[in-house]
Amino acid sequence: MAEPAPDLRTAAHPGLGCPLAQVRVRLRRAGLRPTRQRICLGWLLFGRGYRHLTAETLFAEAQKVRVPVSLATVYNTLKQFTDAGLVRQIAAEGRKTYFDTDLTDHHHFLIEGDEETIDIPSATMSVTGLPPAPEGYEIERVDVIVRLRR
Ligand SMILES: [Zn+2]
Repeated sequence: MAEPAPDLRTAAHPGLGCPLAQVRVRLRRAGLRPTRQRICLGWLLFGRGYRHLTAETLFAEAQKVRVPVSLATVYNTLKQFTDAGLVRQIAAEGRKTYFDTDLTDHHHFLIEGDEETIDIPSATMSVTGLPPAPEGYEIERVDVIVRLRR
């Protein structure tokens, strides 16, 4: 099923109720200037509910709908979105980093060899027996990656 392409004219002048307008509001609330590139990438990221993806996946999606960005810009934007708390980094696998638009506490399955991560419903697992944090540190959060193979 083809996704509608973001209308770049609309991105510059979003109307009320437009998903692009919502992305713009979200960026502003996170303290990020809603540039055209951020709006377009945000539209791709947030326009379809919670998702996991890599910079490469987002770059491929941007190319598909002819958003003129480089892979380096996609990397930088994802870094800015992560720092602003709009997305969460879930795992780095070799040279690939996975991002999650669901900011709630949950863990992940990672399918080895595939570019796929799957949510583990939080009710199905609990983490116990954590070591005390070293002097001067506190545990911010725990990310569990359960690796799967076919
Ligand atoms: Zn997730």
